[in-house]
Amino acid sequence: MTLLAHPPILETRTLHWPDEAACAAFAQRLAIAPALRPSSFIALQGPLGAGKTTFVRHLLRALGVAGRIKSPTYAVLEPYEVDGLAISHFDFYRFDDPREWADAGFRDVFAAPGLKLAEWPDKAAPLLPLPDWTLDIEPQDGDERRVDLRALTEHGRRLLAEVA
Ligand code: ADP
Ligand code: MG
Repeated sequence: MTLLAHPPILETRTLHWPDEAACAAFAQRLAIAPALRPSSFIALQGPLGAGKTTFVRHLLRALGVAGRIKSPTYAVLEPYEVDGLAISHFDFYRFDDPREWADAGFRDVFAAPGLKLAEWPDKAAPLLPLPDWTLDIEPQDGDERRVDLRALTEHGRRLLAEVA
């Protein structure tokens, strides 16, 4: 990603998801990691159809979000609240006006506690804080995905120690 062309990578893991069930299983492990709360920022990268939204859906379900989980492609942000945890699911694919950052309240979201999940972080790179993790989801044959997990902060490293 542009901003993070040379990110301070503290630790990396390569995950293999042979199918979507493996993606869901990892999301379930992450959901119960104590360090995920009260604040974490995870950036999701990879081509269209890689599984970024699918991973977020599995994570939100595991966290107890009920009802429909929409892809925020049009709204840019879909907010949730569960058990006192504010969850912000961003998709910056269509984000192209930096003025929207303050106007839409995104600055406030990142200044407040909560779980932030962002697809297409490159599109808002100069405005975003440093993610605790980046997950690069790379489609392989069929349903198989190779995931490069990078912990970019000390908090991200603690979170990694709890799940992988
Ligand atoms: P993105 O948000 O990255 O554009 P989506 O999550 O919308 O991608 O779409 C991913 C598609 O790939 C979904 O239809 C999902 O069911 C499917 N899929 C197949 N295998 C996997 C896997 N191992 N992990 C995640 N999604 C998978
Ligand atoms: Mg998506």
